[in-house]
Amino acid sequence: MTKNNTSKFAFNKKTAAVLSVSAVIITLVLLFVLSKPGIVVNGGESVTLEVFEPYTDEGARASYFGINLNDRLTRDGHVDSEKTGTYTEKYYVRFLWKKTEATKTIKVVDTVSPVLTLKGDPEIEVEDINNFKDPGYTAKDNYDGDITDKVKVTLSEIMVGEDGENIVTATYTVSDSAGNSARQHRFIRVADRTPPEIKILGSAHITIKKGDKYEEKGAEATDNIDGRVDVSIEGTVDTLTEGTYKITYTAEDKTGNKGKAVRFVRVRGATAGGIPATSDTEGEAPAQGGSYIYLTFDDGPSNNVTPRLLDILKENDVKATFFILNYSQEKVPLLKRMINEGHTIAVHGYSHKYSEIYKSEGAFMNNVYKLQEKIYDDTGYVTNIIRFPGGSSNTISKTYCPGVMTKIVKRLDDEGIVYVDWNVDSGDANGSGINADKLYNNSVNGLKKGRSNIILMHDSDAKTTTPDAVKRVIEYGKKNGYTFLPLNESCATAHHGINN
Ligand code: ZN
Repeated sequence: MTKNNTSKFAFNKKTAAVLSVSAVIITLVLLFVLSKPGIVVNGGESVTLEVFEPYTDEGARASYFGINLNDRLTRDGHVDSEKTGTYTEKYYVRFLWKKTEATKTIKVVDTVSPVLTLKGDPEIEVEDINNFKDPGYTAKDNYDGDITDKVKVTLSEIMVGEDGENIVTATYTVSDSAGNSARQHRFIRVADRTPPEIKILGSAHITIKKGDKYEEKGAEATDNIDGRVDVSIEGTVDTLTEGTYKITYTAEDKTGNKGKAVRFVRVRGATAGGIPATSDTEGEAPAQGGSYIYLTFDDGPSNNVTPRLLDILKENDVKATFFILNYSQEKVPLLKRMINEGHTIAVHGYSHKYSEIYKSEGAFMNNVYKLQEKIYDDTGYVTNIIRFPGGSSNTISKTYCPGVMTKIVKRLDDEGIVYVDWNVDSGDANGSGINADKLYNNSVNGLKKGRSNIILMHDSDAKTTTPDAVKRVIEYGKKNGYTFLPLNESCATAHHGINN
């Protein structure tokens, strides 16, 4: 029994040892069977990258129970760093029959806002917010490219600024496809700076005979913002006294801008002056018992040539005609001298620019009125004589408005404004400093007895030789029985004929 007991005990001890060794082995085997190699992704399993930032794979490490398996790592996946999105890269390692994979997530994102740029001034002024024309803008995104068409513009209500001015804020917003946005503002001051426009009813230039009745037809004024506004009228016409009367029409809008227009009413005697008229065709006038020379000077007054001419005319007691352009205030004394010395001032135009003055009948008339009124304001002199830049037969006007010359001529006739061309050309328009002999010859060779000879000359600064030629033309004319006269409204209207 004791032996049994002892052997049983021995057996038990042995068995336990065997069992525990087996357990360890089994555990180790299981561990070996079940375990896998490990992978560590360098730089973390998730990264975020700004689009266009180059992506560099930082790799991974692999091991198995301390055994370095780095050289067994393989990789799969592709990151397009120029395109937003979520990419994955996979790392694999194999050891015996064991395989492990690890994943890295790469987010390529766009967090850069678009660049929104306003064209023009960020502070602008308009008369009427309804006519606000946006100077424009551009929106460029680093990822989406040009997204200008996605810009939204909103206008605020009119708000009163610190100085009492009316302000509208334009807000520009744009978002790129990733939702990054940009915003800009433009401040629009709304201010009415335009005076009402006054339309004189009936003609702005009226000639009536002494003793006739003058009927005041009034005027209408329209403001760009306020619409129709009242007109006040100042001035009277004494129809029994010859002279030129000025009727002034004024209108004020709510902002205080004042518009002004003037009507000239000329009261003249029953009979016109006694100077014979030329014919209307090519300046060929029938003999009317006199031979006349009208010296006419265009494009002045100039500081250089005009005073010399006035001196020569004065020395020779000859009166001439100056078809002037707009002038600076320092030349007003020259105009006053012309008037005092008996010359005629006539209108060539406020502007000489064909593209402006011939674009419409209205544009042409305003170009005349503007200068007529300026001359009147500066000197009290009223002129109703004009010369077309380029002459009445010009065809350049066709480029800007076909038929405009025909309309203008009719309008001038309706308004009692006389236009005068020329029938002798001195040729001084052909260049500057042309030999005075040549100008003289051109002039005297063009003269014809028994008519009104209207000589075209110029007194702009460049025409330095014209005064010398004039001096000799006067000598010639006087020696050959011509009479020198200034133009007036009732005579000497050489017309070239209308071609447009
Ligand atoms: Zn001219």
